[in-house]
Amino acid sequence: MQNNTSISDAMSSNQSFWQHKYGRYQPNPPLPAGVHKVDVLIIGGGYTGLTTARELKRDAPELSVMLLDANDIGFGASGRNGGFNMTLFGMEPEVTVFRWGKNKATQAQSYMQDAVEYVRTLIDSEQLDSDYEHTGMWRVAYSAKQEKRLRKTFGLLQELGGNESYQLLSQSDAQQKLKSPRVRAAIYEPGTGILDPCKHVRELKRLAEQAQVNIFENSPVLDIEKLDGTNKVKTANAVVHAQKLVLATNAWSHTLQGSKKLRNRQRPVWTYQIVSDPLTAAEWESVGWQDRMSIEDNRQLVHYMRITKCGRITMGGGSIGIDVTEDMNKWHDAIIWEKLKAHFDWLFPALKHKKVHYQWGGAVSSNMDMTPEIGFLGDENIVYANGCIGHGVSLTQYNGRVIADLLLGKDTERSRFWIVNRKAIAVPPGKLLAWLGVNSINAALKTVDWYEERELNRSVSEGEEQ
Ligand SMILES: Cc1cc2nc3c(=O)[nH]c(=O)nc-3n(C[C@H](O)[C@H](O)[C@H](O)COP(=O)(O)OP(=O)(O)OC[C@H]3O[C@@H](n4cnc5c(N)ncnc54)[C@H](O)[C@@H]3O)c2cc1C
Repeated sequence: MQNNTSISDAMSSNQSFWQHKYGRYQPNPPLPAGVHKVDVLIIGGGYTGLTTARELKRDAPELSVMLLDANDIGFGASGRNGGFNMTLFGMEPEVTVFRWGKNKATQAQSYMQDAVEYVRTLIDSEQLDSDYEHTGMWRVAYSAKQEKRLRKTFGLLQELGGNESYQLLSQSDAQQKLKSPRVRAAIYEPGTGILDPCKHVRELKRLAEQAQVNIFENSPVLDIEKLDGTNKVKTANAVVHAQKLVLATNAWSHTLQGSKKLRNRQRPVWTYQIVSDPLTAAEWESVGWQDRMSIEDNRQLVHYMRITKCGRITMGGGSIGIDVTEDMNKWHDAIIWEKLKAHFDWLFPALKHKKVHYQWGGAVSSNMDMTPEIGFLGDENIVYANGCIGHGVSLTQYNGRVIADLLLGKDTERSRFWIVNRKAIAVPPGKLLAWLGVNSINAALKTVDWYEERELNRSVSEGEEQ
């Protein structure tokens, strides 16, 4: 569809490149004024909420299911991510093993492999227009220290996810597929893919509506209250009485009024992306990016990059944005965008002349122990999910399937996965302690990257983080 909005208008209304590229979008009307009654109300229309809604209606068509989103569908992380349908759980496999042990880390890897397959099968079987490509993913090392750690990670990943799931590429193997002088070694994981996040989330909306879910957009929930065994949810001019409630608000969860517990489960962490002008055939030749695989580096503050369907390179990550207030308004960060361009130039010197076409930001939900969580508030009639960090494309959709199981009282292998009802570490109370908590984690990650990349001698202008 034709999009007449200019890039500067789209950026000033905090749209992602994918949302802008999507073209004209007609949101559903807001929730009409008055009192409404439903069996299940879902708050948040990203991957988590939309998948839960559709799966519920498919399993129990007799239930009335309503979904409210504060914005247009796809405004949240689901419409603005890198689009990696990937198996990484939480922060890093080493961190998961350290915190939870090998047995749980193995279960987590298997859950994530199922999650990737769930998304791929859904797209195939429903013929979703999500621009999906199952082209695999690389994890790359730039420095000798990173390579040493990468080789250890390779062994660990094989232990957790199966030998056949990963291959180790030496520098010369890697050079055959990507002509970047900076890549020293890579892990290749074939069983992953990339998609257009905004097209995909709006396809999920279409599926949910086909299943008879009632979706209202631009309908922010202002308060939640327990009343005579049901949940009373208020918007600006309407009230919804719901037997069961799903809080699928991801990085916004701490802003929801009505539950102290939910307010201390997570905080937003902001991540930023840039996308280049389209590359010419000669430029693709010079960078030699074969197979359209997606790429992450194995830094702590990871960069992620991929090719778009329209022939551009998009890159995100590196530095992060932190704001523990409830403003949710750090959509732009010119300094981080500049650092991303510097990293792009450093990684692909042959493309230094390429201009940035568009830049944007978005919030991921991060908790204190860097581990995703699905939990109940009080009784089992309110379910919430968050803490997916930057690895939620597959996870949150599969979590939606699990939440539907939980609401229907189904005992399945996936609903017994250990992140369900786990005891997560609460975010410290008050803005100062929360700020100190999140900043200490950020400082520790930056220090590891600085230590491992000292030999690269990168200056600030070349994408150095410190
Ligand atoms: C820039 C970026 C890059 C990323 N890249 C990747 C990647 O490549 N691979 C990967 O696996 N993960 C990635 N992620 C993470 C992934 O996008 C998320 O984990 C996932 O999309 C979260 O889905 P969700 O449905 O839980 O939340 P969201 O999509 O954030 O949806 C939450 C919704 O709740 C709504 N909401 C909030 N408050 C209210 C309220 N009061 N009332 C009503 N509605 C409300 C919001 O409007 C929003 O639409 C990235 C995230 C970002 C931001």
